[in-house]
Amino acid sequence: MSIEQNLTSIKQQICKFSQKYDRLDHEVKLLAVTKTKPVTDIEQAIACGQRAFGENYVQEGVEKIAYFQNNKDLEWHFIGTLQSKKTRLVAENFDWVQTLDRLKVATRLNEQRPEQLAPLNVLIQINISDEDSKSGIEPSEMLALADEIMQLPRLKLRGLMAIPKSETELEKQKIALAQMKALFDMLQQKYPDIDTLSMGMSGDMQSAIECGSTMVRIGSAIFGARN
Ligand SMILES: *Cc1c(COP(=O)(O)O)cnc(C)c1O
Repeated sequence: MSIEQNLTSIKQQICKFSQKYDRLDHEVKLLAVTKTKPVTDIEQAIACGQRAFGENYVQEGVEKIAYFQNNKDLEWHFIGTLQSKKTRLVAENFDWVQTLDRLKVATRLNEQRPEQLAPLNVLIQINISDEDSKSGIEPSEMLALADEIMQLPRLKLRGLMAIPKSETELEKQKIALAQMKALFDMLQQKYPDIDTLSMGMSGDMQSAIECGSTMVRIGSAIFGARN
């Protein structure tokens, strides 16, 4: 299957599940995850109308953003683990950071975000399945970190992101995803401008849409398996 066919099929599935679970039209946005994939793959996705891309590695992401710098319509999301010594390149190049989980990193991004750019959109990453191997904060720490981020003028808090433990059964997937939705509702109650709940990957997209995701992050189902 070509990238074009895969993208068409994913977009059809997003529409189908959105209708099935009574989600509003265009409420679920598609982020195309392109880590390890060449710029030629990104060009094909752009030709099919895709505009939002996710990258996990700072250097690789910055090189791709530079390659596409003349295309001002594109939106670049950093979705990898962010070490505090690498924040400057991210603050200077990306439009979104989805993996914020420490005040120290938030403070640095705020200081390093160039004045001529719009504030950096950020999501707080929640370690929803409580895995030692995963980044993200505990659910109980969410409101305190959100309060701190709200004080930083060069960051714009947009919501939450999670990478739940991988499960194949839909019913099991939905446990963590529903917990994320409850946290999202709690955050939105305190901060009504919050609008983004980023969850759902190639393997759990349907459950994520059912549970209230507003942004699915799809890599392998569009671009094929990674090495
Ligand atoms: C790689 C990655 C994805 C995409 O995963 P697929 O299973 O290939 O769809 C989504 N989110 C994050 C944070 C990732 O690192």
